[in-house]
Amino acid sequence: MVDIVGAGPGAADLITVRGMRLLSRADRVIYAGSLVNRELLGYTREGCKLYDSSKMTLDEVIEVIKEAEDRGENTVRLHTGDPSIYGAIREQTDRLDDLGIKYRICPGVSSFCGAAAALGAEYTLPGGPQTVILTRRGGRTAVPEGESIERLAAHRASMVIFLSTSMAQELEGELIAGGYSGDTPAAVVYKATWEDERVLRCTVGTLGETVRAAGISKTALITVGDFLGESTQVSKLYDPEFSTGYRKAVK
Ligand code: SAH
Repeated sequence: MVDIVGAGPGAADLITVRGMRLLSRADRVIYAGSLVNRELLGYTREGCKLYDSSKMTLDEVIEVIKEAEDRGENTVRLHTGDPSIYGAIREQTDRLDDLGIKYRICPGVSSFCGAAAALGAEYTLPGGPQTVILTRRGGRTAVPEGESIERLAAHRASMVIFLSTSMAQELEGELIAGGYSGDTPAAVVYKATWEDERVLRCTVGTLGETVRAAGISKTALITVGDFLGESTQVSKLYDPEFSTGYRKAVK
């Protein structure tokens, strides 16, 4: 059995209880060495074999899993954040399907949630944005035309941009061309929930300069939108005049 486990955004205690249990029982752990906190490997039992996938090809990863299966061993494939977001798990699960190897997925706390916590912010606000766009800028990896930053910016929703900090200057131009005004609040969150986490608040119009001055090029998210600004409305959920399934309105 292969368990694909979300490691969480950084801090070792932000893995799920299930993820930690799976790690503690694993015979082999293949971890995404570029972003997974090494402290998590401390949850493994003695004798567990550890593999850093940042130094491996897909074929090599599959080979390690196949070998484990042949010996009746359990493998944990540990991915950063939640595996469903830029986890490149599909190419692995397709191969496992072809080989008839069973797998399960254990969700994790994505870095976009870690970033919101670092910012003390809520992406969706009453009377404000009700949509969160998780995306990246096209670079070496192509992005479909309909999902260009400019097109997505037209929604002026809350936006979280992964894998794109090294292209902050280009992003700035595209966000403005797409529909955000230059003074829309923005923030760069570097290594959310890690000990060396950094939060840089700026505006869309100063994004490029902010990232350049901070010298940040990776392990950061760029967040954009009015959710980072002042909030004026309150939700109906706790409004005394609003009934919910759990509470009657006070007339
Ligand atoms: N599956 C992961 C994302 C993997 S893609 C998740 O759910 O978070 C890797 C990108 O995620 C990085 O380039 C960076 O943009 C972002 N990222 C991952 N961990 C981060 C963290 N702790 N703080 C800020 N950004 C992070």
